[in-house]
Amino acid sequence: MSSPVYVANCIFCRIAHRKAPSTSVYETKYSYAFLDISPLSEGHTVRSDKSRAHAEFLHELSDEYLADLLPVAKKIAVGTKAEHYNILQNNGKEAHQIPKPNQEEGLGIKWPAKEVSPDQLAPIAQRIIEEIEKNSEGSSEKI
Ligand SMILES: [Zn+2]
Repeated sequence: MSSPVYVANCIFCRIAHRKAPSTSVYETKYSYAFLDISPLSEGHTVRSDKSRAHAEFLHELSDEYLADLLPVAKKIAVGTKAEHYNILQNNGKEAHQIPKPNQEEGLGIKWPAKEVSPDQLAPIAQRIIEEIEKNSEGSSEKI
């Protein structure tokens, strides 16, 4: 599966290719982190894959970018000095890091949990395992 490197009407592609303005906070070979222009709280940061620009979904991102993502998140956590924060992967290509200074600011999350039994979970797990095995030849190591 391969994605186009640059999509002109995608704001994240334009930012990653420096064709749209942004306020940078951190950058690596693979990642570009910048402040969200409509922040949920102070220090709300967006990270973009600059090595392989456009991807709509997490599974289209390069392994190199994904391996870079959490170390960059750690740097940003230190930089914002946020005591609490959320990390959000929207399935577009950007990952958000949002300080949670109090109940009113930051990311709001609904968690509508359902009651299920192990018997209901087993076939779901089996479908997921089969799909992973079908699609994982040559990628990440498995234990
Ligand atoms: Zn894009």
